[in-house]
Order: sequence, then structure tokens, then C-alpha cells
Amino acid sequence: MTEKKKKEKKAETHICHACEEVIYPEDEQEYVKTKRNTKMWFHRNCIRRQMYGSNKKH
Ligand SMILES: [Zn+2]
Repeated sequence: MTEKKKKEKKAETHICHACEEVIYPEDEQEYVKTKRNTKMWFHRNCIRRQMYGSNKKH
């Protein structure tokens, strides 16, 4: 038996700042850098939605 070292890649999941749901690695996603040097993640769809609906306040 040989020992296999498994490199566990932690798939980083992020929370979408628009809809507050998990962004899965296979989802289309984008991030925005803030002044605090942090990243805000969004689904690409959510960005689109925000752009189109930016004048509308909920
Ligand atoms: Zn989203």
C-alpha cells in the first residue's frame, strides 16, 4: 500500500453580496475590490440584475 498524499484543495466558496446566497465554484462569478482591500463577490447574474435595476430601489 502506498500512501497517497491528497492535496486537498479547499474550494473557496463565497457569499454573493447581492442575493446573499452561496456562490459555487462552477457559477459565473465576479468580485469587486473595496478600499479596505477586501473582495466582494457577486454572481455574474446578480451584477447584471443590479446594473439593470440600479435605479429601482426595492
Ligand atoms: Zn447572487
